[in-house]
Amino acid sequence: MSNWTLVIHGGSGSMARGRLPEAEDQGARAGLDAALRAGAALLDAGGSALDAVEAAVKVLEDDAHFNAGRGAVFSWDGVNELDAAIMDGASRAAGAVSAVTTTRNPVALARKVMEDGRHVLLSGAGADGFSREAGLEQVPPEYFALPERRRQLDEIKAGGGFDSAMKYGTVGAVAADARGHVAAATSTGGLTAKRWGRIGDSPLIGAGTYADDRACATSCTGSGEVFIRAVAAHEIAARVRLSQLGPIDAAASVVAEIGVMGGKGGVITVGPDGTGGWAFNTPGMYRGIMRSGEAPRIAIYDDED
Ligand code: ASP
Repeated sequence: MSNWTLVIHGGSGSMARGRLPEAEDQGARAGLDAALRAGAALLDAGGSALDAVEAAVKVLEDDAHFNAGRGAVFSWDGVNELDAAIMDGASRAAGAVSAVTTTRNPVALARKVMEDGRHVLLSGAGADGFSREAGLEQVPPEYFALPERRRQLDEIKAGGGFDSAMKYGTVGAVAADARGHVAAATSTGGLTAKRWGRIGDSPLIGAGTYADDRACATSCTGSGEVFIRAVAAHEIAARVRLSQLGPIDAAASVVAEIGVMGGKGGVITVGPDGTGGWAFNTPGMYRGIMRSGEAPRIAIYDDED
């Protein structure tokens, strides 16, 4: 069996132990497990890191426990506007989409943008049109819209905010394959009640998503505006490439700086040798890791590892 590593996340937040309902805890763990196994099956068969991160993120997009694809949060105008990105560390080819509304799996659309190669980031109606032309599965708006996310929007609009312990996060995956190539993918509905065409870090190459075989692949979750200002995912790669830090230490140093800047969240990262893991500054982060020949490891709270 060849050596590979897959790391995934389902968002960070204040899911402290005992505050998250048992059903949510178990449901999220099952979703993370399914995502790891989907990516692992490809990697075990000699597949690429790029295919593995896309497959893992698709599973999480289809799972209503997470804020991506089905189950995404609502914008202020009551729409699910989805952002996603994917990057190949071997070639540094990348594709991303923002505010798409009709594609079942936005990460697959990001992959199409990457493969098409003319552009890196498409947005809104244009990106939806590209998706139809590319022949990707289209779904009606009701597919994404869940009553619980609507309730959260209504609560925010009423001025109360909602319990951040109930936050459901962005999803992402990073992988190192047997050939030593890395890849990263991220997908999200963004922030509940986002307005004015707000775009977070997830679809911005270098901010929420980045992959470079010379360093590492990273996917971020958290306060998007701060991750953009920190150019977080690229900053981690730069520290690995230009200093003696390994990916996990570089990630921890960037997450610490994000905290100083007032940001909360976390990252997953993996280097081409399979050194991988996470760093976060919130009470919890839905996360999992699997290596060739090992069982999946899944965690939510900061006291698990
Ligand atoms: N980073 C995402 C955004 O700002 C949100 C999240 O990860 O929860 O859109």
